[in-house]
Amino acid sequence: MKTVAAPRVLIVGTGFSGLCMAIRLKEAGIDDFVILEKASEVGGTWRENTYPGCGCDVMSLMYSFSFAPNRRWTRMYARQPEILDYIRRIVDDYDLAPHIRFDSAVVAYDFDEATDRWAVRTAAGDVYRPRIVAAGPGPLHKPSIPAFPGRDRFTGNVFHSAEWDHSVDLTGKRIAVIGTGASAVQFVPEIAKQAAHVDVFQRTAHWVLPKLDRAITPTEKHLFRTVPGVQKTYRGAIYWSHESLIAGFMHPRLMGALERAARGLLRHQVRDTALRATLTPDYTIGCKRILLSSNYYPTLQRENVDLVTSGIAEFTETGIRTDDGAAHDADVVVFGTGFEIADRFASEHIVGRGGLSIQEAWRDGMEAYLGVAVSGFPNFFLMMGPNSGGGNQSIVFVIEAQAHYILECLKLMDGHEATRIEVRGGTQRDFNRRIHQKLAGSVWNSGGCDSWYLDRTGRNRAVWPGSSASYWLRMRRPGVDDFDLSSAEDRDEEDYRGPAVLEGAGLRLAVEVHLTGHLDPLDGHYHWYGQVAGDDRIADLKRPDAGVPTLRIGDGPLVDAILAERDPWGHFRITGVGAPPFALDDLLV
Ligand code: NAP
Repeated sequence: MKTVAAPRVLIVGTGFSGLCMAIRLKEAGIDDFVILEKASEVGGTWRENTYPGCGCDVMSLMYSFSFAPNRRWTRMYARQPEILDYIRRIVDDYDLAPHIRFDSAVVAYDFDEATDRWAVRTAAGDVYRPRIVAAGPGPLHKPSIPAFPGRDRFTGNVFHSAEWDHSVDLTGKRIAVIGTGASAVQFVPEIAKQAAHVDVFQRTAHWVLPKLDRAITPTEKHLFRTVPGVQKTYRGAIYWSHESLIAGFMHPRLMGALERAARGLLRHQVRDTALRATLTPDYTIGCKRILLSSNYYPTLQRENVDLVTSGIAEFTETGIRTDDGAAHDADVVVFGTGFEIADRFASEHIVGRGGLSIQEAWRDGMEAYLGVAVSGFPNFFLMMGPNSGGGNQSIVFVIEAQAHYILECLKLMDGHEATRIEVRGGTQRDFNRRIHQKLAGSVWNSGGCDSWYLDRTGRNRAVWPGSSASYWLRMRRPGVDDFDLSSAEDRDEEDYRGPAVLEGAGLRLAVEVHLTGHLDPLDGHYHWYGQVAGDDRIADLKRPDAGVPTLRIGDGPLVDAILAERDPWGHFRITGVGAPPFALDDLLV
């Protein structure tokens, strides 16, 4: 492992979030940043998702940075290639390429308390030591593939919508599509044109509104290019029409008009009353993400398409068997089953202050402050983190607000000559208590459905409970009282790096430790923590029958220690409460 750079800011991801952050840094005169990208191309979700018909169900004029309007949109709702093209042009226009390191998937983030820098390790073994991390991995990033019984038995082609296998020619094939969400309603109409037969497996009906898509006319394009303010006026009109919908999302009784529009589409496009009943949801519109499509219902009524509503019992060698005993033969199975949202950090190695892992911090569910800062993880900013998603608005708007906020946090650090910024635990708790109170009555929580907005416990971890304008306002300026700001030089903390002896399970091991600690104002005890390495037998001391290991430095006190999991660097985390094994002012203990 080698340290390749120690930039001021490390950005992760080249989707809209990462690029927006980079542009804002450049505009503020900060050039000391690196962007790590796991792939060999920019684009985030718009690089990953290439399924037939892939596009955005947010109007294109709202789906660009406010500071970089796209004069080239060809449609009111842009398709994936156009959006990816826009993102590539952004990289060129803002000269971001020199900052990007491709094929650099991050595998571990560890906060170094001695230097107030993160050690960010890539799969290739490179280590970056930035002061600040701005991570924009995207919430819809990890495909969710349910573990249906016998899933591996199927001998045909299988892939997820976000990992479309373009080498598989669908012409004349029998295709099984599982899922009827935002992705499926876009690709089912496209593949039905090619396939011999498509079975669409619907578990829950979704509300669908017509997609009022059309080409942007030559006159409009001309006006956008030549008359200042016209495109901005269009964008403003779209923004405020979307914004007005938030009242219904927060107060579901106001959703009547939208539900009538959705029922109208269903009545108009589906004449068969039995099929119409099957496609009519039994929950309030908006509870699950509302789908926009004018060709999904007509597609379901094609000769070569069947809607299957019996549950999936198992996969067989030749297809799918449903709970009613029917066999649905298929050559190809496509999972349109969405993404792991609430568990998306379950296997991430992010270890902050005091050896706190993101899994421990979020054992009761993901939570952040304003979707960007997490207590226990100094100098680390998430983009599109928990409860920052716009339920009714373009996510690009939200991302811009977040990039602005993070930049303001950097300025706050400068103003205080701080090397560390961390949101206060109390601030984060109060904030989350308030937003979850507000969300309780919203359509996402109380509309009578299950959705990816809610985690296993039924808490909404996805959506901001209000208008995007209210989010934007909150993100204008970070409150200095919301954060702890300090500098590594001034911090009154003890720190020990060196040899020690670890004992337990009949073993006496000479090890190397790096320890620090702090007096916790809440419980009044000194908490010490750090890393231990140097002997492969340390793992033996973690056996359930090994008892409590002890640690001693030189001829210092013998103290009980707790050993935790091994990190990717080969260190074990070690913690303890009470007198630490290293010299410390007695008054502090
Ligand atoms: P999704 O909306 O989460 O839909 C997943 C579908 O798979 C649902 O119909 C779900 O049924 C079904 N499903 C999941 N697990 C299943 C199981 N075990 N058995 C049977 N069915 C199962 O996923 P998505 O369509 O990929 O879209 C995800 C998100 O991506 C969207 O909500 C949206 O935010 C984003 N997206 C955006 C656009 C855009 O145009 N902006 C386009 C595509 C996607 P249930 O409803 O019963 O759970």
